[in-house]
Amino acid sequence: MTSATTSSEGGKLDENTDVAAEAPSTLIDWEAERFQAAVAELGLDRATVSFLEFADRSLTIEMPIHRDDGSVQVLPAYRVQHSHALGPAKGGIRFHPAVTIEDVTALSRLMTWKTALHGLPFGGAKGGVPCDPTLMSRRELHEIARSYLLGVLPIVGPEQDVLAPDLGTSAETMGWVLRAAADAGRPDPKLVTGKPVILGGSHFRQSATGIGVAHITALALETLGASVAESTVAVEGFGAVGRWSALELSERGARIVGLADITGSIYRDTGLDVAAISAWVDAGRPLVEYPDAEVWTGSVLTIPSDVVVPAALEGTLTVDIATAAETRLVVEGANGPVSPAAERKLRSRGIPVVPDTIANGGGVISSYFEWVQNHQRTTWPVEKERAKVLGRLDETWSRFTDIEPTRWRRHALRLAIHHVVEALDAAGKLATVEREAHPHH
Ligand code: NAD
Repeated sequence: MTSATTSSEGGKLDENTDVAAEAPSTLIDWEAERFQAAVAELGLDRATVSFLEFADRSLTIEMPIHRDDGSVQVLPAYRVQHSHALGPAKGGIRFHPAVTIEDVTALSRLMTWKTALHGLPFGGAKGGVPCDPTLMSRRELHEIARSYLLGVLPIVGPEQDVLAPDLGTSAETMGWVLRAAADAGRPDPKLVTGKPVILGGSHFRQSATGIGVAHITALALETLGASVAESTVAVEGFGAVGRWSALELSERGARIVGLADITGSIYRDTGLDVAAISAWVDAGRPLVEYPDAEVWTGSVLTIPSDVVVPAALEGTLTVDIATAAETRLVVEGANGPVSPAAERKLRSRGIPVVPDTIANGGGVISSYFEWVQNHQRTTWPVEKERAKVLGRLDETWSRFTDIEPTRWRRHALRLAIHHVVEALDAAGKLATVEREAHPHH
């Protein structure tokens, strides 16, 4: 996301290592850089690479929205379906001022790799509307959600593209989206995951991503010969992902020494009471004003701790922060919080990164189980779903325990790409490309 990244990354040089100065500064460039390196390592031919590279479908619509002051504002809205190779495309809808078609495209690709990595029968998609939900009324957001659904309805559906919440949207938004589809003659809970429980949502979905991040953190620490109960952690972001990561890590005995949200950062080296902070924030008070903590003026990711979990936005862990960090492990709770240049810096300092595709996969795994329950017209107890989600994460992690930690991201991408290529090949897609590429054979 440009606003979060260009200012701190642009044109930086690092004299020590090969940390690239000319590092591209948006998520789409980062995704492309990592993808190109992975396909080069896998030795894939150009036709296959082009199949993997381009989106199956990319839709831009324009939505006239009635503002509360009586004016009409036309907002663009995007839906990108990167891949259907393994099943219906799957991905969230983001309401955030910095949403661009490029970021949505990059995020849709990330979803393809994430669902493939965890063995889910889904492809990858993402959607978004550039708007600031903090400056809009519920009525305005309701109208945006309904207009969005009506705009994308021709290309979405339980077997085409399954919607979900993301930054700036919630279960409530998904309830509105589902209602809009029903009003348009397409009532179907399977169209949307992350919806309210009363409309067929899962009991575990809201906490699944964060609890999954905590679970993967525990597994990664174990792989590194450490334990979560003896570790200190700083978490950036106190939303759906950050809050549940912090709560679960604290539940598992970790000492949470730093927390941050948009209002600022707080720390306490003897450990923060995450449950009390959660209640404080729920009462509508700013996290940064929580009384039993000190205010930390820099990035929360520079607080000395065994683990840092960036779980707010993309691009927050910059080269400068990678240089200043005093940690042993970075776990990507958010999508794309560590730029490739920052990751090279961390690698040169021997600090491994658990990539987003592994770390926050609990969210889409839980969405998958929600979709399965909707197909079966049943509701599982929350313990059953939790066990299934964490079990799937265990399976995924078992493929990383023998991998050199600084190669976790590359390995995850290689596994995911390999899986998608196998599906394309099994469906005869790659042979078709070859024939077209060599018409005389
Ligand atoms: P959210 O809107 O619930 O929370 C975002 C949090 O980040 C808020 O606490 C906000 O105050 C904080 N924040 C915003 N700007 C900040 C800044 N500059 N510094 C510090 N904190 C800041 O969003 P979320 O659902 O928790 O998503 C966070 C990230 O995780 C996104 O990258 C999203 O794509 C990714 N993700 C979310 C899910 C999910 O299930 N919600 C699943 C996978 C990935």
